[in-house]
Amino acid sequence: MSVTTDEPRRVPSTVALVRCDGYDPSSVYAAVGRGLDLLGGAGRFAEAGERILLKPNLLVASTPGEAVTTHPEVFRAVSRHLAETGAELSYGDSPAFGGTRMVARRAGIEAVAQELGVQRVQFGHPQTVSFPSGGLIKQFDIAQAVLDADGLVSLPKLKTHALTRMTGAIKNQFGCVPGMRKGTFHVRMPDAERFAQMLVDLNRLLQPRLFVMDAIVAMEGNGPRGGDPRPLGALLLSADPVAIDACACRIIGLDPQIVDTIRWGGLWGLGEPKDIQLLGDPLDSFYEPDFRVDRKRAPSPTGPGLKSRLARDHLVPRPVIDPALCTACHTCVKMCPVTPKALTPHAKHDRTGAYDPRETELRPPTYDYSVCIRCYCCQETCPEHAIYVKTPLLGRLIHS
Ligand code: SF4
Ligand code: SF4
Repeated sequence: MSVTTDEPRRVPSTVALVRCDGYDPSSVYAAVGRGLDLLGGAGRFAEAGERILLKPNLLVASTPGEAVTTHPEVFRAVSRHLAETGAELSYGDSPAFGGTRMVARRAGIEAVAQELGVQRVQFGHPQTVSFPSGGLIKQFDIAQAVLDADGLVSLPKLKTHALTRMTGAIKNQFGCVPGMRKGTFHVRMPDAERFAQMLVDLNRLLQPRLFVMDAIVAMEGNGPRGGDPRPLGALLLSADPVAIDACACRIIGLDPQIVDTIRWGGLWGLGEPKDIQLLGDPLDSFYEPDFRVDRKRAPSPTGPGLKSRLARDHLVPRPVIDPALCTACHTCVKMCPVTPKALTPHAKHDRTGAYDPRETELRPPTYDYSVCIRCYCCQETCPEHAIYVKTPLLGRLIHS
């Protein structure tokens, strides 16, 4: 793929919003086809002989019913429509935890891909790409497979997110950064605003041609992994990631301007958050004002007045483990990107302090909030949904 190192191309701020009330294959195929037709047809985004890479959200291993990953029927429908153009399709992602094949199998995407002859490509080999016009980041390590493709088609899932409030089209490209390199961005940009700027730069660099957002069943509450599926019956299609995320926000009653990826995406020319031509079904018919999402801007752990430990500890939301749900698997410890780790495994010890292997009861890891940067990677990947984000009392009072 030819990545840009110049100013981004302005994409048309048209969003197709199409009702689709379930994952029945023929309904999803028809809905995706209708959305593509509203945007000018699949041929606008892929041509015969081009190598098009599909990028679903494969965050972690989970089944389609959990609403963590892009549903396989959305993947199937988009693949079939793009294949009709004569394009050569492949797919890939770099999950937050676990190998791509295992995660794709669990998500049901590997089976569909094999059925349709869509090849899975490795995202493990990075190539450094310089990006002089980056607003914040001038150089990225990108999966070689992404760079090898002629074009990228992004298939995000609409979910809540502790750091960015919602995850959709813009955040989906973070998986193009291979493996643990993603963690280094959390360490370098611990506050939501700078992290969002990095994501905007990443999208300005990669310029996916098309976004098809799966909001047929979204995730509300403790997302992006531990929340609850919430049927919305919506598919959103656009070439503009800012516009599509802004429309998704309006569906769930979230002000797009408190989502830093949308705000900075608009400011840095990635897309248009306000002046959007909406085609298809009326947005009001999808509006869910009681969708469970945090509607307040996240306080930055490095923001003005919050650099002191005392202020941070009393104001910034922190991850907390529910001991009743924790199985002491230590995934959270592995995922914590800071050194030394902000989470310590806590095994039951005998009287001498040595680990007693006869004891099978293991307690949850303990946090050291003095080194925790509030990236919420632990909350994002806990397989038992045992970690939630809690705002200290003072922070809650100030917010209210
Ligand atoms: S909090 Fe979650 S990820 Fe961490 S040890 Fe417990 S179950 Fe595992
Ligand atoms: S403990 Fe969790 S929120 Fe804190 S730095 Fe580690 S992964 Fe991030």
